[in-house]
Amino acid sequence: MAYEHIIYETLRPVARIWHNRPAQRNAEGTQLLDELDHALHEALDDAGVKVIIIAGKGDQFSAGHDIKEGLALRGNQTVEERYAYEERRYYDYCLRIWDAPKPTIAQVHGACIAGAFMLANMCDLLVASEDAYFADPVVKGFGAAATEVLVHPWVLGLRKAKYMLHTGKPISAKEGYDIGLVSELVPRAELEAATLALAETIAQAPAMALKLTKRALNRTADIQGFRNALNAHFDTHQLSHATEAMRTALGAKKGG
Ligand code: ZN
Repeated sequence: MAYEHIIYETLRPVARIWHNRPAQRNAEGTQLLDELDHALHEALDDAGVKVIIIAGKGDQFSAGHDIKEGLALRGNQTVEERYAYEERRYYDYCLRIWDAPKPTIAQVHGACIAGAFMLANMCDLLVASEDAYFADPVVKGFGAAATEVLVHPWVLGLRKAKYMLHTGKPISAKEGYDIGLVSELVPRAELEAATLALAETIAQAPAMALKLTKRALNRTADIQGFRNALNAHFDTHQLSHATEAMRTALGAKKGG
């Protein structure tokens, strides 16, 4: 598959997937998400790859889902069509990153917003540069019940997740580091090298030990209700798509 909206690189034992729509703030449109999911499978099928990095070209990691594309192509979707689209591209694609049997690292600089916050947090670890910031303003801006995958309380803690979602306010990289959202905090100029060095450190462990450890840790989260809570929230999020509040918010963004 020839990629246009991402770049896929192998630096064995590491594979790196870049969001590559810098002029569109790396907006995650249909093509980008399809390519990213395809590249993830390439990395998982490559026996020479032990660790996967997800990053962004240009000034930021990503500003989130491609709202322009969504309004233009899917503005009049039925409940059934939207559910099917979001289940596949937002929910299932995200959970495939979470469930990947190889460790994953998000390499984050600049904006990491809404859908991109959700996607980055599917990774096991997150390296951020000092200019990175995290936000999920969709409650206020769109009348949505958060984004599709409610990973927020699991990576922020319940109190901070409520603050972030209810206010729409961003969290700085430093604050993210202090609360454990960010695994390593580095200067912008060192982000790429530091993330690669972390991946190479992890890759020194046997692949099977990494796979089993990740599986055990993720099962710990599942025993605490991770997957059930995510499943329940996805339906709640779909309900919010059918509200008058969201219709009004999207109408205003269309200029109508
Ligand atoms: Zn949605």
